[in-house]
Amino acid sequence: MPDPLAGPGRFYKGNLHTHSTRSDGVLVPASVCELYRDAGYDFITVSDHFLPKYNFPITDTRPWRTDRFTTIPGAEVHAPATELGEMWHILAVGLPADFAPTPPTERGPALAARCVAAGAFVAIAHPTWYGLTTADADTIESAHAVEVYNHTSAVKCDRGDGWGMLDTLLARGRHLLACACDDAHFKYPDWFGGWVMVKAEILTPESLVEALKAGRYYSSQGPEIHALEVGRHEVTVECSPATTIVLLGRGSAEAAKFGEGLRSARLPLEKMRPGGYARVVVIDAQGHRAWSNPLWL
Ligand SMILES: [Zn+2]
Ligand SMILES: [Zn+2]
Repeated sequence: MPDPLAGPGRFYKGNLHTHSTRSDGVLVPASVCELYRDAGYDFITVSDHFLPKYNFPITDTRPWRTDRFTTIPGAEVHAPATELGEMWHILAVGLPADFAPTPPTERGPALAARCVAAGAFVAIAHPTWYGLTTADADTIESAHAVEVYNHTSAVKCDRGDGWGMLDTLLARGRHLLACACDDAHFKYPDWFGGWVMVKAEILTPESLVEALKAGRYYSSQGPEIHALEVGRHEVTVECSPATTIVLLGRGSAEAAKFGEGLRSARLPLEKMRPGGYARVVVIDAQGHRAWSNPLWL
């Protein structure tokens, strides 16, 4: 397969999941946008909780767009009920401003499908944080991605990782992407911890959502992935200085290169081929990770 990061354009840094005072966040939308814009982010989604108690907000962030910063309208949508009896948490990036409120009878899978039909990039949010099961995830057939890192969940209760869920789904043949998000509420130090780097030709909400759906991005806590080349026998990775570069596949399939200041690695695909996918993790000297999307073999 071609390098999903090799297309035309450049990388744009963005946070897909954040809350404001339109739901249970501490900062007003203006402050959220300015915080990320001033920190060098290229885009943000303020994804307030789409619930009746907040009057179903699709938070309007258009006033804070500039030539070098854009915003994608979206929300975190909710409906009954997971296997443990909790409300679903579904991240929808790229919703229309008039997205219809969730009817009381709507269930999570139907709501996710309605978000996809409305044009959104849809992710199963923070699965570990609320004990989502694989049986739950199996019912969300329309999702594009699983949140593999949710920063606020990591900060506040050490449940930020979602790779356990995604690797299980991938091993069972699901084609799903990965995304890292802050899910910042600003009640805790929960911002600037996880983001996506999206390869796109222009910085518009539409081009970013299209690139997200196509998997033309990677996720990060710090390291950069510059290129991924899938050859017949190996994957070549180019990245910012790393101490570990790992290739992972179905089950226990793994290959890794260790060192100091590694900027590239060629990792064998042999063990990954039977499982149908491989993915790359780049770890830097501070222990921060960058994660590729699954590479379909
Ligand atoms: Zn949530
Ligand atoms: Zn959230």
